[in-house]
Amino acid sequence: MRFPACRALLAVFAIGSAAAQPQTPLESFPYTPGLDTAAMDRTADACVDFYQYACGGWLKANPIPPDQASWGVYSKLANDNQRFLWGILDGLAKRTAGRNANQAKIGDYFAACMDEEAVEKRGMAPLRPLLARIDRIARRRDLAPVLADLHLTTGDSALFFGFGSGQDYADATRVIAFASAGGLGLPDRDYYLKDDERSRDIRAKYGEHVARTFGLLGESGEDAKAHAAAVMRIETALATATLPRVDQRDPYKLFHRMDRAGLAGLTPGFDWNAYLARLGMPRVKAFNVTQPAFFQAFQKEIAAESLADLRAYLRWHVASAASPFLTRAFVEANFDFYSRTLRGVPEMRPRWKRCVSLVDAQLGEALGQEFVRRAFSPELKAKALRMTREIEQAMRTDIESLAWMGPETKRQALAKLASLVNKIGYPDKWRDYRAVVVRRGDFYGNVERAQRFESRRDLAKIGKPLDRGEWMMTPPTVNAYYDPQMNDINFPAGVLQPPLYDPKMDDAPNYGDTGGTIGHELTHAFDDEGRKFDARGNLRDWWTADDAKAFEERASCIVDQYAKYTVVDDIHINSRLTQGEDIADLGGLILAWMAWETEIAGKKPESRDGLAPEQRFFVGYAQWACQNDRPENMRVRALTDPHSPPRYRVNGLVVNMPEFERAFACKAGQPMVSEKRCRVW
Ligand SMILES: [Zn+2]
Repeated sequence: MRFPACRALLAVFAIGSAAAQPQTPLESFPYTPGLDTAAMDRTADACVDFYQYACGGWLKANPIPPDQASWGVYSKLANDNQRFLWGILDGLAKRTAGRNANQAKIGDYFAACMDEEAVEKRGMAPLRPLLARIDRIARRRDLAPVLADLHLTTGDSALFFGFGSGQDYADATRVIAFASAGGLGLPDRDYYLKDDERSRDIRAKYGEHVARTFGLLGESGEDAKAHAAAVMRIETALATATLPRVDQRDPYKLFHRMDRAGLAGLTPGFDWNAYLARLGMPRVKAFNVTQPAFFQAFQKEIAAESLADLRAYLRWHVASAASPFLTRAFVEANFDFYSRTLRGVPEMRPRWKRCVSLVDAQLGEALGQEFVRRAFSPELKAKALRMTREIEQAMRTDIESLAWMGPETKRQALAKLASLVNKIGYPDKWRDYRAVVVRRGDFYGNVERAQRFESRRDLAKIGKPLDRGEWMMTPPTVNAYYDPQMNDINFPAGVLQPPLYDPKMDDAPNYGDTGGTIGHELTHAFDDEGRKFDARGNLRDWWTADDAKAFEERASCIVDQYAKYTVVDDIHINSRLTQGEDIADLGGLILAWMAWETEIAGKKPESRDGLAPEQRFFVGYAQWACQNDRPENMRVRALTDPHSPPRYRVNGLVVNMPEFERAFACKAGQPMVSEKRCRVW
């Protein structure tokens, strides 16, 4: 369990099968410039609503496609990436000769996934062995080994809890076992606990969906209803004991290292020996139980609920996890609740998109090699690395010049910055998929074997030296992240493409956009969460009391600022949840500005498209965030997304920057000029 703090949150696992609009594979990327004047709305006043000024044209010209929950510059690029990967996979699926081992694997996986007819023909058969396993739970002590099997096979932490490897918070070089809270079918604990009308409505529809799924498994209407009620009861008990998302931002609240006896003491009714033996890890000694109160609630549930209801709970989660890989009836039901009802998506995604996403999720570094070879040149890597070093230098200058931080904390902050590792494009060492068996005509089997491979790969890390070269995102991903325990920033090749990074464009928009993203990830090392880890990735307080207080004061300026913004309806930003991202956004843009100023020192950048270089910097920045959202999706995000809505990821920054006020000659009192400016980094 780590805290990867990233640039965007994209839903990868939306599913579907009906084409929203006819699309074809892409031979190469369509070129969209890094600063697109057509995306602007020049009738808007930059000093009144800069987001509208920079993105108004884009928002108007890019309505949300019927198979998407939201549609923005990031998701559009991700969609283009998918079409590009589709072409690669389609070619590899049709060819059966002249493919290397990885190419054969991803080609055959894709072919099996696209073969909907074979999936329909097999019906529920692939699920039967798992259901039979659950049916054989005859005594409470049978639960542990069965749960281990289900965890290995599905990788799903919605089955009561999550279990895997993670870096020890106290010693980042050690990899230990993590037992974490899970067990829920709705996206957040709040869905079970809030009493407003919308929450009650979603709960009722969730219950209907669970019952419908039991029906698909062959249960009578009465049984399905009773079992759905049991699922709701169990999940509500688990949700009540789950830490709110805001508390989960504090790593100290998630650090409870214990030995086997400690773990057994929390959950005496659960046979951990049998569970670990079944996982093939009988000798694991060190555990981090991220939420002990959750495991106490788990203990209560497995002691109090009837065996029949516990079996029903497991059946529901196994069926739910498997639904995207089963027949149309299961796919439909799953889409209907999780996409249509929860996020307001009218149409399912075409099957090719789901299949490309799955190859990326399960064999991502094999697919990534194909992507990188075609779309990420060594020159591009060198340019990205150069800009990263410039942003790092800006951060160094920034830390050295901070008036609010004392010399002792500065020394530690600079040490942390100096040991931070940049990972650009793709991993140095590719994952070895030789152990994954892929068969044409066996889609479900492929998914299951790939998942078991991933579960085993993850568990095998426990007790071994840490692999610092590992990536948590695949190369085609349009996103980036900072990992405080690894103390590294990771930029997949997919995010270093136009219109985000555009080698044909002048410096200003590139520094605004990609420079801003690099600065954003770098700032995560020093946000409310990241600052609690030291240069080695250990959870350790390296701040003097005064400096910590000064940081908190500055951070609360941002928390107060964003709390005033509305997400949708009357829901305001939960700015304690978003503060890390908000701090990273502002810090990132300030660092990008500093790096750009250094880059152009002595040069005379020209105006283009009627925009001065300083204006191009800000418009270039803003245009990564142009995005339309469905209100239903906004409601989910208000509860779960640590990022603020795109509008405020632009307007919320520029109001804090005097550089912006000068660039657009804004006047005091205008909406984009804040009276009380916030600044952390
Ligand atoms: Zn972030």
